[in-house]
This record gives sequence, structure tokens and C-alpha cells, in this order.
Amino acid sequence: MIDLLAIAAHPDDVELHVSGTLLKTVDLGGTVAICDLTRGERGTRGSGELRAEETRQANRAMGLDEANRWNLGIPDGDIRITEENVLHVVQALRHFRPRILLFPSQHDRHPDHENGHRLVREAWFNSGLTAVESTFNGTPQEPHRPELLLMYAHSWEFEPDLIVDISQQFEKKIEAIAAYSSQFSMPGQASTEDANEPQTFISSHDFMEYIIARMRRWGFMVGGKYGEAFQTLGGPLKVNDLRTLL
Ligand SMILES: [Zn+2]
Repeated sequence: MIDLLAIAAHPDDVELHVSGTLLKTVDLGGTVAICDLTRGERGTRGSGELRAEETRQANRAMGLDEANRWNLGIPDGDIRITEENVLHVVQALRHFRPRILLFPSQHDRHPDHENGHRLVREAWFNSGLTAVESTFNGTPQEPHRPELLLMYAHSWEFEPDLIVDISQQFEKKIEAIAAYSSQFSMPGQASTEDANEPQTFISSHDFMEYIIARMRRWGFMVGGKYGEAFQTLGGPLKVNDLRTLL
């Protein structure tokens, strides 16, 4: 059983949107894991192999054990809600057994993110059913359904329900994002625009400045410097002790 599992459509989505929260959970003594649905092999820039190497580098930057990051190998650009894909995600949920699940929000410009949302929701429900059988390395798995679902945004924004102050984890998060040098232009570094590859929506300095500005805004909203925002699914959160909100 771990505290937090983050599922994402592409390697680098977790780094961009929730790695501060993962790092903070670990800093506070918690346990985390990551599951990427695809290898990002259809990206305009880089290749599946290059992105796998970048992911290893990002894991090192985050101090994440390789065993705690799965890649399900679903075809990039083609995340379908099939029985097979649902079962892959169920296997991951039953293997890591997270109490809290972070996953993509419903609406985004990239269809993989929206399809990732639908696939994970489907798997989240199925994972709790005894009737759905799965095995890992030949051993039958026990049903498991995370208690709390939280969604993170990609390009299209949402109204946050809660914000995690990641000011202390910001530098490490930037290091993890910078591991994906085939994808992003980091502040203070040469632009990937100089490289011999086509430009994309995410490869300009503008994109990274926007991502950082958004973290800055979310951080300011809760009295910190940098923040990561989440939305709940299915209504308000239960609070047992108001003092834990301080
Ligand atoms: Zn993505």
C-alpha cells in the first residue's frame, strides 16, 4: 500500500503537473509511485527511446526508485477504453494499492489527456470489483480502489478545489522537468528553437514560462510561492479535523 499514485498519459506530464506534490509527500514521510500510460513515442520531437532515457533522468532528479514507475506501453495518440487497457491500469492500481490517485482532468486540448482520464476512471471502478480478475507475475491480485481521486490540469485550466504549496520542492521539480530536454526550453537555457527539429506547442520558452507563472499564481493564492492545483471528482472533500487544514 502506498499513499499516492500519479497516472499520466505521457512521460513528462507527471513532472510538469504533479511532481511537486509527489516530492512533498515523500519529504513528509509518505510513499509515491508513477504510472505512465504511453511512451510518448509519437511526439513531434525526440523518440520513444530518448524519452525513456529522459524519464530515467527525471526519476533520478526526483529520487524515485525505478521500480516505482511503470510504463504501460499503450500506443501514444491512441489511448482507447478497451478491456485490455482497463486491465493494464487495474494491474497497476492493485500492484501499488494507492490511497490517493492523481489523474488527468476531463477536458484538455490533447485528446490523450481526456482519454487518459476516461481510462483511469473506468479502471479505478473496476479495480475494486472482485468480479474483475487480474494477475501480476502469475499471482492473482486482490481488488483495490483508491479512496480519494484528485484531478490535475494540463493546458486547459480549471478552478482549483485545493492547492498544494510546493515552494520548497520547486527547484527539484524544475530539475525533473529539465530532464526532458528534447521537449522543453528551460528558463536561462538555450531555446530548443535552435535545434534541428520542428517546434511544437510545448517546446518554446513561452510554454515553460506559462507553466511556471501558473505555479506562481497558484502558490500565491494559498500564501506560498509556488503551488500545484487539483480538482475533486464527485463533490466536496471530507475533513475530520479542521486543524489539519492549517
Ligand atoms: Zn501529455
